[in-house]
Amino acid sequence: MKIKIIPCLQDNYSYLIIDEKKNIACVVDPSESEPVIKYLENNKIHLKFILNTHHHYDHVGGNQKLKEKYGACVIGFKGDKDRIPEIDTLVDNQETWKYEDFEAKVVHIPGHTLGHIFFYFKKQKSVFTGDTLFSLGCGKIFEGTYSQMFNSLKKLKELPYDTKIFCGHEYTMQNSKFCIAHDGNNQNLINKIKEIEKKLHNNLPTVPSTIKEELECNIFLRADNLKTFSKLRDLKDNF
Ligand code: ZN
Ligand code: FE
Repeated sequence: MKIKIIPCLQDNYSYLIIDEKKNIACVVDPSESEPVIKYLENNKIHLKFILNTHHHYDHVGGNQKLKEKYGACVIGFKGDKDRIPEIDTLVDNQETWKYEDFEAKVVHIPGHTLGHIFFYFKKQKSVFTGDTLFSLGCGKIFEGTYSQMFNSLKKLKELPYDTKIFCGHEYTMQNSKFCIAHDGNNQNLINKIKEIEKKLHNNLPTVPSTIKEELECNIFLRADNLKTFSKLRDLKDNF
């Protein structure tokens, strides 16, 4: 099993989870269809599933075309059945979704939207966090409450340290500026920023991060109570 990062739109990432033995794949949050199709065609891979973390257009924009072209099945949270285009299979909080060697645990993480979920591929030690957890940041709270978002991040914090985080956007550099402004003595953060600069300089994505790195460096995960978290979220919105 291999995970391929597909840059989409301005700063989105879609991800292909590829079963290389069978040449089949799932795509997470296809913002648009073209870059995904291009990779699949070049590598002769058949798309089986579309997994959506939430209903925003920059995460579902490719659903229709990809479903048309491959007959892929769209998987999304049951509470978003009327907002995720072309949805076929409804999944619920704490459910394990499985097809042949693909297996992911679904966890409901409201805050950014009310129907946001993450997909945790335990065997691949990978979590797809959409717009809830970014490297060095977290999503804006559009639909939920601060308390919901805080609790949703807590669920991500409980994953094993070595879990790789594949998030929905390349926001890491911008996020790092906020973290360092409020956590200037954090040596782990200082080191991580150097690595981020190197990667971006070489035109490489800064994802995946890991739960360990985010626990050490991400100020929103380091906030240990709701009040601190809420204050940081407000400050970030005006940063
Ligand atoms: Zn979003
Ligand atoms: Fe987004």
